[in-house]
Amino acid sequence: MTATIHHTLATVFGFHEFRAPQQEVIERIVAGEDVFLVMPTGGGKSLCYQIPALHRNGLAIVVSPLISLMKDQVDSLVANGVAAACFNSSLSADEARRVSLQMEKGELNLLYVAPERLMQADFLERLAGMQLSLIAIDEAHCISQWGHDFRPEYTQLGRLRGLFPRVPIVAMTATADPETRKDIIRQLGLEQMTVYVAGFDRPNITYTVLPKHKPFNQLETFLAGRRDEAGIVYALSRKRVEQITERLRSAGIVAGAYHAGLSDTERKRVQDAFQRDDLRVVVATVAFGMGIDKPNVRYVVHFDMPKSVESYYQETGRAGRDGLPSEALMLFGMGDVMTARALIENSNNAERVRIEIQKLNAMVAYAEALTCRRRALLSYFGDQRDHDCDNCDICTNPPRRFDASEHARKALSCVYRVGERFGAGYVIEVLRGSKSQRIIDLKHDRLSTYGIGADLSAGEWENIIRQLIHLGYLVPDYSRYGVLGLSPAARPVLKGETEVILGLPREPIKVAERVQKQVAAKKVYDKELFNVLRATRKAIADEASVPPFVVFSDATL
Ligand code: ADP
Ligand code: MG
Repeated sequence: MTATIHHTLATVFGFHEFRAPQQEVIERIVAGEDVFLVMPTGGGKSLCYQIPALHRNGLAIVVSPLISLMKDQVDSLVANGVAAACFNSSLSADEARRVSLQMEKGELNLLYVAPERLMQADFLERLAGMQLSLIAIDEAHCISQWGHDFRPEYTQLGRLRGLFPRVPIVAMTATADPETRKDIIRQLGLEQMTVYVAGFDRPNITYTVLPKHKPFNQLETFLAGRRDEAGIVYALSRKRVEQITERLRSAGIVAGAYHAGLSDTERKRVQDAFQRDDLRVVVATVAFGMGIDKPNVRYVVHFDMPKSVESYYQETGRAGRDGLPSEALMLFGMGDVMTARALIENSNNAERVRIEIQKLNAMVAYAEALTCRRRALLSYFGDQRDHDCDNCDICTNPPRRFDASEHARKALSCVYRVGERFGAGYVIEVLRGSKSQRIIDLKHDRLSTYGIGADLSAGEWENIIRQLIHLGYLVPDYSRYGVLGLSPAARPVLKGETEVILGLPREPIKVAERVQKQVAAKKVYDKELFNVLRATRKAIADEASVPPFVVFSDATL
């Protein structure tokens, strides 16, 4: 079979090698299994259903959200000699009749259709009488409110498994964040499907996170060595974009501003100038990015922290499309977290608030990582790896490390003992032997792991658990309040076969000074700020011992 799919790859598509994991995915689908494929845009997802469509009997249905996307795909398939067509509202009555006829006669291999059309009763009835080779759902994140492009018509697709129990379903998306993924799987009713996550690493991008301190100066210093290079500086608000642009101009750096508050003409002017290399630096809100296809962006600076890891990944991903070394620098300050939280909590859609806060917390956890940034970033996406990079800020300037094998074993076995049904806060209570009622009620005070971690503070355990998440030993389910589960990598640790080396937090004193200044400036009394201060003071007090991580809030795990 492998020989034949290779043959198809070469003769129909003109390629000679599969990219990982195309071959495995194709083989599974050809064998009739369901697959969920998460790969970045341009990764090569289409072949993963197009080849199986040519190796199984019957018609392949491809669900796609946009007529333009369908048309591109169909045109290139037809150009390769594949019998493909689309069925949507852009067809004339004649064309629609012709496609229908081809479909009925079994002359088509692939049919692209919009979800609302597919799920119409008359269309489903026609399909019920036909042999289907597979159903491919492109842009599958459109089914989820967690995703960035929710489309109500996609939710109907949850009925497909029931309607076509024997037809393999392949769902595809470039949206990697774990909550969206779980939600997609749940909604499609495909809990058993094999998930492939691949291709997210961008080896030519170097990731750095700096504590934000006099950020304009930090930015100027960074840009000073990059006069001839093109780059993007992202900031969270229009006002901030304007301020930064002004500052840069007064420092003699030619910069263009880009945000949704500017006229179409102005935005187009900036984008074109950037594209043509007439403008080196664009200072922008997230509005800048769609449709930028500039290969030689050498750096992306986040002046403010983005609101999710997914946005961070997409925005930093605009650097280095040409494969040459590029920089991703983020300035990170507690103030940004406050601002972002306040903005989110402004909304009166409670579910939306919950989702966004979870995403923000994952972003903060990344910013505070003491482990290899690349690894933390990829593990967030489920693209696990077992080695550090050697060029992120953590890898090139590592924090002091300690052998945390024993602690890791305790934490992991506690997660296991509580049945992988609780979040970090709860696990820490069990570890520290808390007398709280919720622990007693569930008889978790009788577990063998109860109280085995009483020697460390809650903050220290939070720090350890956070690092275990970044290293991929623990997997939080953000869509279920951060419930912790074990990954396969946890097993050798539990068995005592692997060492776990973790980082010690750094610079508690500087952080304390900064936070104190913020408190003074804002004259706020905020419970979380207070907790930060308290944790920080404690860190200063006993710096000789293991300093606790500066805890922003329980939820930042
Ligand atoms: P995605 O849907 O994941 O964004 P596509 O399926 O559109 O990506 O593929 C992106 C590009 O990669 C296309 O030009 C496609 O022809 C090319 N491609 C896909 N697989 C291979 C391969 N095995 N070898 C060479 N090029 C490939
Ligand atoms: Mg695609």
